[in-house]
Amino acid sequence: MEENTTNTNTKPTLNFIEEIVEQDIKNGKNSSRVHTRFPPEPNGYLHIGHAKSICLNFGLARKYNGKCNLRFDDTNPIKEDVEYVDSIREDVKWLGFNWDGEYYASDYFDQLYEWAIQLIKKGKAYVCDLTQEEMSAYRGTPTKPGTDSPFRNRSMEENLDLFVRMKNGEFADGCRVLRAKGDMASPNMHMRDPILYRILHTEHHRTGNKWCIYPMYDYAHGQSDSIEGITHSICTLEFEVHRPLYEWFIKELEIHSPQQIEFARLNISYTMMSKRKLLELVNEKYVSGWDDPRMPTICGIRRRGYTPESIQNFAEIIGVAKRDNVIDVALLEHCIREDLNKKAMRVMAVLNPLKVIIDNYPDTVEELDAINNPEDVNAGSRKIPFSKVLYIERDDFMEEPSKKYFRLSPGSEVRLRYAYFIRCESFLKDENGEIIELHCSYDAASRGGNSPDGRKVKGTIHWVAADTAVDIEVRLFDRLFNAHNPEEYTEGGSYKDNLNLDSLKVIKNCKAEPCLKDVAVLSSFQFERLGYFCADQDSTKDKMVFNRTVSLKDSWAKIEKKEEK
Ligand code: ATP
Ligand code: MG
Repeated sequence: MEENTTNTNTKPTLNFIEEIVEQDIKNGKNSSRVHTRFPPEPNGYLHIGHAKSICLNFGLARKYNGKCNLRFDDTNPIKEDVEYVDSIREDVKWLGFNWDGEYYASDYFDQLYEWAIQLIKKGKAYVCDLTQEEMSAYRGTPTKPGTDSPFRNRSMEENLDLFVRMKNGEFADGCRVLRAKGDMASPNMHMRDPILYRILHTEHHRTGNKWCIYPMYDYAHGQSDSIEGITHSICTLEFEVHRPLYEWFIKELEIHSPQQIEFARLNISYTMMSKRKLLELVNEKYVSGWDDPRMPTICGIRRRGYTPESIQNFAEIIGVAKRDNVIDVALLEHCIREDLNKKAMRVMAVLNPLKVIIDNYPDTVEELDAINNPEDVNAGSRKIPFSKVLYIERDDFMEEPSKKYFRLSPGSEVRLRYAYFIRCESFLKDENGEIIELHCSYDAASRGGNSPDGRKVKGTIHWVAADTAVDIEVRLFDRLFNAHNPEEYTEGGSYKDNLNLDSLKVIKNCKAEPCLKDVAVLSSFQFERLGYFCADQDSTKDKMVFNRTVSLKDSWAKIEKKEEK
């Protein structure tokens, strides 16, 4: 974050990528064009880390009047699927971005093959028959130079012949590969004759059975960038060591040269962002699916009730870093609170209902005014029904109140939000000693919750009228992992040891205001005093289901305050 702190003057500091881009524009590089791309591999659902990359790439295009492509890096048919392609398209759109071109690395398989032939003819690539084990032994170690493969000096004609036959399907998987002639003594392991093509007799979700050789990521990625005329190829730090190879291919092929720029990947505390591991959580049923609201996937946090604006804002605040760091999950929560505070309608719902009977209230129903959103004057107000029998939250009553307990207790008075002052006169217990019903009196003169005579009432509690209440189910979530960094575990263990097995709490018999009856899936509300909630897709005609997006308490705001001091 330190790279992106704002100045005291009004012009915000550019992040280091924007600095590079602005310099390039000024220098007329690429005719001052800006063209980025977001290049996911369709082997899983996107997560919040990808959201960072999406906001960055599409954001640059937007800011500098450029273009941004969506490119599927589909070079590994074994792990890829159209299901993932579809979800990625949906998630990028939902985040608020439209791509200029939609491309697939597989669109370029013919061109990539032609270029491989070209490299062979230039003496820059050869077919190698070493086994995987032999190859890694020949490759050496970072401190020990490698040794040349015995196949490195094959003639150009032999290489051409073998490569064409590889393509024609004459050889079994894994028996030979095409390698670049790099430098076996290079301190950069990626330059030690990297593999360009491997044999894989596997159907591809787009090219079917046309190919049985597939390009490696390093060979496909830069060339795809080049074909699309990408100007700034932004990727995460682990690709920094791949950059010399990226540039080597471009130079040898004499094609348009995009600039690769690396930034630190987003990590968030108490969560994990690896598609492979997230897939494991899905397959092993630790979660209900990719879109489980506890998942850091875009579809998961969407279902949880996060808005695109909150995620865009989060991406903006964290900035672009050059070094790996971990962002406090409280900051993400802060961003959604801030957004929903402005947008969400306030309603009342009782999660753990305790019946209250107001003995001196008539047997009629009246309508009281409630403000929909104090942060938004345009949100207006609504009528909420009030009647003799109500529900309040069980923990808003204490038989023997502690000192600082200002809610309801025998003989004490509280304010019912938007309604009246009530006093608890008596209560009823069942045979197990559990309180089942409170008997209260109300002060008709306190209508609207205003004190009639200046007498003070410290506590205000929420409630719903029993007759008109709708039954709802509420799902509360805790962190999916107990550890700040789930990837830290004792030797011989796994990240799964850090799973919080108690991260989902389903509350079936909650009571809510009637206005929540048929609200649209994904609509958000603040349940007063309880948090922000979002209607879930599991809702039925008879019963709405709500996910708690986030509670009301903002621990990030506290952290910030402390830092200011
Ligand atoms: P994972 O390791 O989670 O499987 P990946 O890097 O393999 O992710 P890709 O589909 O290759 O996933 O990523 C698409 C783009 O998103 C890449 O440019 C990648 O650098 C970027 N990206 C992936 N994870 C993050 C992250 N945590 N923070 C920022 N960018 C990310
Ligand atoms: Mg990847």
